[in-house]
Amino acid sequence: MQSDGTLLVPDEVTVPFITGDGVGAEITPSMQTVVNAAVRKVYEGKRSIEWKEVLAGERAFNKVGSWLPDETMKAFQEYLIGIKGPLTTPVGGGIRSLNVALRQTLDLYVCQRPVRWFKGIHSPVLHPEKVDMCVFRENTEDIYAGIEWEAGTPEAEKFYRFLHEEMGVKKVRFPETSSFGVKPVSKEGTERLVRAACQYALDHHLPSVTLVHKGNIMKFTEGGFKKWGYELAQREFPEALADRRLVIKDCIADAFLQNTLLIPEEYSVIATLNLNGDYVSDQLAAMVGGIGIAPGANINYKTGHAIFEATHGTAPNIAGKDVVNPCSIILSAAMMLEYLGWKEAASLIEKTLEQSFLESRATADLARFMPGGISLSTSAFTQEIVTRIEK
Ligand code: NAD
Repeated sequence: MQSDGTLLVPDEVTVPFITGDGVGAEITPSMQTVVNAAVRKVYEGKRSIEWKEVLAGERAFNKVGSWLPDETMKAFQEYLIGIKGPLTTPVGGGIRSLNVALRQTLDLYVCQRPVRWFKGIHSPVLHPEKVDMCVFRENTEDIYAGIEWEAGTPEAEKFYRFLHEEMGVKKVRFPETSSFGVKPVSKEGTERLVRAACQYALDHHLPSVTLVHKGNIMKFTEGGFKKWGYELAQREFPEALADRRLVIKDCIADAFLQNTLLIPEEYSVIATLNLNGDYVSDQLAAMVGGIGIAPGANINYKTGHAIFEATHGTAPNIAGKDVVNPCSIILSAAMMLEYLGWKEAASLIEKTLEQSFLESRATADLARFMPGGISLSTSAFTQEIVTRIEK
């Protein structure tokens, strides 16, 4: 990362990767094979990726007795950019979620989820081609910050006493059996997220940024997000706003979810809080083909740190059967290539996947909905994509 905030990328990039648990052992090698083929085809040996395995999750626990070894964090710190398969969430004690630990340690404040439809993919909506959005979900704050106390514990009781006696809160309906959670939403947290969304819209010549919030009900948290978001845009992007290179608008979250179904063409870049972003990204993903194909990344645009990831879980019910769809992590790798500035390789991967879908050749989860769909195993699909890339 250079002092002007841009990445200086060498021609040979070392990328730390976490294979992941369950289906991770199948999708991650598939992704590497496809990425290597695309980079080789486009740059003819002038650029390449050196993959460096780092451990996390069950695989790490079984090998070295730690769910998230220090070396893994160090590698992501040092190399800035990495990619990961899905991880088993440890049950009971210790780390609540490995994904959250990675995001927090590296302060990856943007969860970025591009959502577009690929021709040939079955969709539950009539016009999936109208869905073309990129969600910027705030990743470090909100009710997701994990500040909560369970009903019946001394902490919950103490917190209630503070609310009741010192803050004069009289609205808790059943205090004795209530759990409590805290929803921090800050000006700084909002600003860095909205800044990244605006910059992305400008860099990609996109028509608008929509702030999605529930500020009508939660006036200071969600309402603050909307207010600070507009103020930031006006303060930092006045010229782009004036000549309409940048358009900023807002929508209340429940209306937004309806509108995504009714008028998706009205929306492009979405900037939203953590919990809204969780719902919004899954609904949008479902509209364009679902869980096996949605890519994602967690990014800190200031330090340059970014972890690209499969957005689905470890899918233990299909692990080891050579049927899993590797497209989520493959498309996340395409996002990574674009982030590195290797746009030609990224677009070759996207184009090739689409060609295969158009000929109804895909893994079973997608092929079964395609007219005359041909179900390929994970390994056969990977080979199919590599052969098409090499053509
Ligand atoms: P899941 O995403 O693993 O599976 C949900 C359903 O979708 C299953 O039927 C599965 O077979 C199917 N599915 C998922 N990915 C698929 C793919 N690529 N191709 C075809 N089908 C696919 O969710 P879950 O069952 O709720 O979670 C299983 C484990 O994964 C849990 O331990 C959970 O904590 C973990 N998890 C991890 C992440 C992550 O690391 N990012 C995300 C979600 C869940």
